Amino acid sequence: MFRKVLIANRGEIALRIICACKELQVRTVAVYSEADRHCVHVRFSDEAVCIGPAKSYESYLNIPSIISAAEITNVDAIHPGYGYLAESSYFAEVCETCGIKFIGPPPAVIELMGDKVLAKKKMCEAGLPIIPGTGIIKDTGAELEGIAEEVGYPLIIKAVAGGGGRGMRVVTKSEQLRNALATAQSEAESAFGSSDVYIERYLDNPRHIEFQILGDQHGNVVHLGERECSIQRRHQKLIEESPSPIVSEELRQDLGQRVVQAMKAINYQNTGTVEFLFDQEDHYYFIEMNTRVQVEHPVTEMVTGLDIVKEQLRIAAGEKLGFAQQDVLFRGHSLECRINAECPETFAPSPGKITAYHPPGGPGIRIDSAAYTDYVVSPHYDSLIAKLIAYGVNRQEALARLNRALDLFVIEGIETSIPLHKKIINHPDFIKGQFGTSFLGQLRS
Ligand code: ADP
Repeated sequence: MFRKVLIANRGEIALRIICACKELQVRTVAVYSEADRHCVHVRFSDEAVCIGPAKSYESYLNIPSIISAAEITNVDAIHPGYGYLAESSYFAEVCETCGIKFIGPPPAVIELMGDKVLAKKKMCEAGLPIIPGTGIIKDTGAELEGIAEEVGYPLIIKAVAGGGGRGMRVVTKSEQLRNALATAQSEAESAFGSSDVYIERYLDNPRHIEFQILGDQHGNVVHLGERECSIQRRHQKLIEESPSPIVSEELRQDLGQRVVQAMKAINYQNTGTVEFLFDQEDHYYFIEMNTRVQVEHPVTEMVTGLDIVKEQLRIAAGEKLGFAQQDVLFRGHSLECRINAECPETFAPSPGKITAYHPPGGPGIRIDSAAYTDYVVSPHYDSLIAKLIAYGVNRQEALARLNRALDLFVIEGIETSIPLHKKIINHPDFIKGQFGTSFLGQLRS
């Protein structure tokens, strides 16, 4: 196992990684921006290094600063968390060149799956169904309308390097196509530094269902079942659960096995998530893969009893997976609410000081958060302030616990998404498990 790990992140995920390291008796180095001096990840790590000003690109995205901090503190490995540099193949490569283990897949695999067009092609070759669509739209010549017609309307224009629900445009008729394409390209350029986009058939109110996988450096791959992530705002997840209310044991085994085969085909290592959309006839299609730990990983931990972050560390240290597919057992049900610092009506960010913070506890409740009373939610960073995770022997018990925990969660001084979560989880369709990615849009219209 590693001796010392640097955590190139902040907030709840930095703290989550510190927890895993402490349990494995690995020393930790936190990095922080000037705005984050008083954050808990700085307080609870063994060492901490300031890496620059508040703006992310000057600190948490500043590769030379992070590598210098790693060298000064003499770490063996870097855990990137999620967001920031977690899916930068360049960063992973720099780590390798500097003799520091990057806790994630090899740079070439990050690069392959980071290109959504290439990823779809590769996963199609590996036997997963994909949504009909195009490669990169190179020029906007006369053929464009024909290409779009072939895909069929409604369609969605997506950024090849996309992420975080950004850089997507839905087009319902051909008259909108050229304008939408130009806008999507310029949005993609400014958000991801590449204007490359592609076109895909747009599915009506699909379900977003994803498989969690783990692969070691010795060719072993297992899946940890699925998560249902259809409750979204602006194509970003808000509530996740495991198992999905619509996935049968048979489908879990069948699709899980296909995912494992596909991951073996690309020699996948460490943790990752293979995302699918399910249409209303229950046909499923691969859309993309995330080559990192995800925000919603705790619901899988609750139903499998595994610690995904500790597994990441063990895998990166070269250990073999300590269990096989048949040892992965699913028990009970878990849901997660992302509590964001934002207006529950408009989703406008609500930064500022938390004047009172008291998280709920009790049976079956887990909170992953770096917030505390007097913590200042900075406008520079993500609006996620806490993840409220509930576990129960079945969905009904998990939902009852989630409901009372939302009632007992005190966060004052800023607006949060708690009232919206209450509304969603008490909606009859949500209770019945009947919802798709348009659920929230329909609830609000
Ligand atoms: P990102 O990497 O930005 O998260 P994804 O490709 O994972 O982008 O898509 C995010 C969400 O956008 C999906 O969960 C879904 O709600 C919506 N979406 C993406 N592609 C389609 C599609 N072809 N049809 C319908 N909805 C889609």
